[in-house]
Amino acid sequence: YSSDKIRNFSIIAHVDHGKSTLADRLLELTGTIRKGHGQPQYLDKLQVERERGITVKAQTATMFHKHNFLGTDTEFLLNLVDTPGHVDFSYEVSRSLAACQGALLVVDAAQGVQAQTVANFYLAFESNLTIIPVINKIDQPTADPDRIKAQLKSMFDLDPSEALLTSAKTGQGLVQVLPAVIERIPPPPGKSNSPLRMLLLDAYYDEYKGVICHVAVVDGALRKGEKISSAGTGQSYEVLDVGIMHPELTPTGVLLTGQVGYIVSGMRSTKEARVGDTLYHTRSTVDPLPGFKPAKHMVFSGVYPADGSDFEALNHAIERLTCNDASVSVTKESSSALGMGFRCGFLGLLHMDVFHQRLEQEYGAHVISTVPTVPYIFEYADGSKKHIHNPATLPSNPKQRVTACWEPTVLATIIIPSEYVGSVITLCSERRGEQLEYSFIDSQRAFMKYRLPLREIVVDFYNELKSITSGYASFDYEDAEHNVLACELVEKLKKFIDRQMFEITIQAAIGSKVIARETVSAMRKNVLAKCYGGDVTRKRKLLEKQKEGKKRMKRVGSVDIPQEAFHELLKVS
Ligand code: GDP
Ligand code: MG
Repeated sequence: YSSDKIRNFSIIAHVDHGKSTLADRLLELTGTIRKGHGQPQYLDKLQVERERGITVKAQTATMFHKHNFLGTDTEFLLNLVDTPGHVDFSYEVSRSLAACQGALLVVDAAQGVQAQTVANFYLAFESNLTIIPVINKIDQPTADPDRIKAQLKSMFDLDPSEALLTSAKTGQGLVQVLPAVIERIPPPPGKSNSPLRMLLLDAYYDEYKGVICHVAVVDGALRKGEKISSAGTGQSYEVLDVGIMHPELTPTGVLLTGQVGYIVSGMRSTKEARVGDTLYHTRSTVDPLPGFKPAKHMVFSGVYPADGSDFEALNHAIERLTCNDASVSVTKESSSALGMGFRCGFLGLLHMDVFHQRLEQEYGAHVISTVPTVPYIFEYADGSKKHIHNPATLPSNPKQRVTACWEPTVLATIIIPSEYVGSVITLCSERRGEQLEYSFIDSQRAFMKYRLPLREIVVDFYNELKSITSGYASFDYEDAEHNVLACELVEKLKKFIDRQMFEITIQAAIGSKVIARETVSAMRKNVLAKCYGGDVTRKRKLLEKQKEGKKRMKRVGSVDIPQEAFHELLKVS
């Protein structure tokens, strides 16, 4: 396949607007998966994705499609990337866009443009992708495609005549999708006669094959048996296997310019597979590709083995999982109450939750996680600054004067039916929000931008927002800078931090001497809050899971406290 017969596109949308279902239909239409076989949302492979009904990992699949192009029947190679819709995983979306030249922007024909529609549109727009608007779910009785077309025009200046109308449920309108992809999206721009440059898109560990990397061949071509090097680590490898995701791994022996596929190259440790790295032929020299922006961590929490002796097993599990989820940061830490563990940085609370669940389900690791905290910056009298994301690392010396404290803030986008504007403004001002923008998408929907302290939204903002708007609000955020909090003395600040950053503090003490202290989050209190998909059987499953969660609470309740303290005091403040 020469690059002019290749198209790389992703499917982007707000949660639940039908990305994964549309991906299923396109895979069926091209005979890549058999109709009616396999599960719905075929590309949502992880157990956590199936249980929650959300996509967490972007997945690529290659399809072949015949199309009459400029008068001749031509077979095209199409790479489709299904992406997550939830705000916590937009890092995953922006990474997958790097291998695409176009995107299907899917919008629910009844719900219309939502907060993540806006966020994902801008991700694609800033990457210079060709955007094809797809108004999906037109089978619904409340579908109103004309209203959605008007929204797309007013919000994004997208030409209403370019919108495709589909139902991924009934199949209506689907035959127009791939012809539009082929005719409107440009082929990948790489040079086939230049030295090989591949972008490492994603990686995971396979028990039998070792590390499997997903790659996009930007320039040149790669064949099995060739020697490649990593620009990031300087290590060299022999390519043992190379092929495409069709949708299962299918060896092809070669990947040409513009193709997306997988390679197996005997990387021994998952640390060698760095997402965003450039791979090239060892015999040539190339300029590395731009790579990816580092992920910005919004919340931090401690992750400890539920049984203190499992530290090595947890270490191993975390290493494997972070290979597949490069957006988590991990540093070792130890706590007197919980022993050796890790402090992990996440992109949001849902991301944190999904990470814990994947640790358990995919690696059998049982973990205790501490209450999530947000990263503060403290400045001391001597001018030094310290980033603090673990309250335990606050200096205990009361003489060390804190002269300033900055808290992280976010830029939030909120879209709501107009009748809820008043209550949402009240909520945002209670949460110390600053309104930056307030406008109307159309006669029924308002669009607001707020700057909010991260701490105020981390715990229950989204639930609260949903509840005061009868579930109609949609919400998205991106990180903004730190805001100065106050110039006060250590004592006051520390009290403040104590009150705001901890939910439950367990202190173990003998007499008045505190020997252990830890904060432990209440796990799975409101399981349904995390159920972003709407269907009932899924909710029931989650409630069943809650029973298991409660067992876990018990375990948390019996945190290993050093022996001497055991009969003494366990104070919950
Ligand atoms: P995603 O979060 O964007 O990937 O959305 P999913 O593909 O997981 O779909 C969310 C829900 O919408 C599922 O229950 C689908 O069955 C349903 N759905 C998807 N497309 C359509 C459609 O065209 N019409 C209707 N009525 N439901 C749809
Ligand atoms: Mg999905």
